[in-house]
Amino acid sequence: MEQKIATIYCPSCGAPARFDIPSQRYLCGYCGSKVEISEAVEQKRGFRKIQREKIRNSLKDFKLFHTVCDGCGAKIVIEANEALSTCPFCGKSLVRSEYLHADDMPESVIPFRIVPEEAKEKLQNWCDSNRNRTEAKQLRKHIDELKGFYLPYELVRGPVHLSADRMDGSRTYYCEGFLENEFINRSKQLDNLLLDGMEPFDIDELTPFDFGYIAGQRVKIADINDRTLEERTRNESSSVYAPSIQNVLETDKIDISADVGGAIRLPVLLPVYYFTDGELMAAVNGQTGKASVRALKDSHYYFLPWWFKAIVATIVFSAVICGAIFLFSKDLVSSLCIAGILALFFLIVTLCLYSDTVRNSFAVSSGRKIFTSESGKTVRSIADPVFFEKIENKETPVVLKFTTPLRIIEIILLCFTVLFLPVIVALFVNGFDFKRLELGGSAVWFCIFVPVVPIYLLKFGIVELHDNPWIYLYQDNGRLKRYRKKHEFRFKKGILSDLLRILFVPPLSLAVWFGIISFIVMVYLTAFGF
Ligand SMILES: [Zn+2]
Ligand SMILES: [Zn+2]
Repeated sequence: MEQKIATIYCPSCGAPARFDIPSQRYLCGYCGSKVEISEAVEQKRGFRKIQREKIRNSLKDFKLFHTVCDGCGAKIVIEANEALSTCPFCGKSLVRSEYLHADDMPESVIPFRIVPEEAKEKLQNWCDSNRNRTEAKQLRKHIDELKGFYLPYELVRGPVHLSADRMDGSRTYYCEGFLENEFINRSKQLDNLLLDGMEPFDIDELTPFDFGYIAGQRVKIADINDRTLEERTRNESSSVYAPSIQNVLETDKIDISADVGGAIRLPVLLPVYYFTDGELMAAVNGQTGKASVRALKDSHYYFLPWWFKAIVATIVFSAVICGAIFLFSKDLVSSLCIAGILALFFLIVTLCLYSDTVRNSFAVSSGRKIFTSESGKTVRSIADPVFFEKIENKETPVVLKFTTPLRIIEIILLCFTVLFLPVIVALFVNGFDFKRLELGGSAVWFCIFVPVVPIYLLKFGIVELHDNPWIYLYQDNGRLKRYRKKHEFRFKKGILSDLLRILFVPPLSLAVWFGIISFIVMVYLTAFGF
């Protein structure tokens, strides 16, 4: 059986092994053997060493040069007989340089599957279906200038360790994912987003590099340093997982960092048709035919400052309250007054709430849009992130849930109970005699808790939701079970003496007894009227 370059194989039986995120190991699908992350990395290191030797030996049989561009620094490999005088990436003149160094060549390659004519047709199709865009009108004149290149990339495949910091909370969440096939662009000159647009590539077609692939093709040599490569790798790995982490944590205000220390890294060449002329840039995937075109101009995105959001939220909230009170009372003046007082409280709450966020001013950010064709539908799939929590001193895979319907109902019920506590007690006292119920008896209570409850709900309720997710554990039968921290209930002597002090040592006890008596009076008045 032919082995695929990017696949990890079981050392016992030779079948492909898949990565299992919860156990952080590769598992053989055939015999069930386990392959540790370090073993997997070692397996591919062996392949790279053998390949490197092969390339070194075979380079002698080919007359290859690499030329360097004066302007942008691009290094391009060409055959000795090819006349290439200007740089295809910036248009400046090329300086002929020495023979090619074997170490500049990656060990693996995905060969071109689409011939230049097909690639031009794909770009033509893109222009046809985007005929109203300026980019399409300009591109049409240049379609014949589309040129094929093997571009240098780094394939990253393997486990990724992610940590996500909530900007509006105090916790950091950790999760593990798996990168199926992340290709990191190793060219300085080429637009990263444009190249991302024509991905994905099918890595099953990855084959060992051979100089035969260069015949009639141009190869670009990697020209970014290791530090930039690491930075790009971390950024791309975290951006791959950003949407699914944002989805679980229910916010986009998170700072995600990725560590791909356990992943397999392979320098590869990918087949790409590329065209660039000033601001106009297009790329066509040489394997799938997916086209990607960069917008000629920047798009602008607008951000609102936090205090602006707070004011808008207050206006909306007050308008709703005012409308609701007016519906019941039909008294415009008093409903305006009540809504106005509540608005003041609400504004304080929302200002507190939103002030945690990072945006303090009106801001405009700009970026280039990338237009892609739909052809070449190799689906880009990513494994769902698995979150880990320390449970009984062991890192355990869990499912986190934040705003579940049950939790919302729980919080609303709690607020309702607090708000109507004397009324509820009064109903029990008078035997649910709604006719004798006098809501006015609890007026003082309402005055205190009508503003307090929304403050609690907005500030502490949301923080509680965000910082204390419900944690579910995987069970053997595949179902989830909610994990609750065991609260060891021990009756401490301290609690009893504290309680006695509150009740019987003045001056605190006076306030406590005043509160208790007021509550009893309120309940009585509410239950039986004045
Ligand atoms: Zn096996
Ligand atoms: Zn150049």
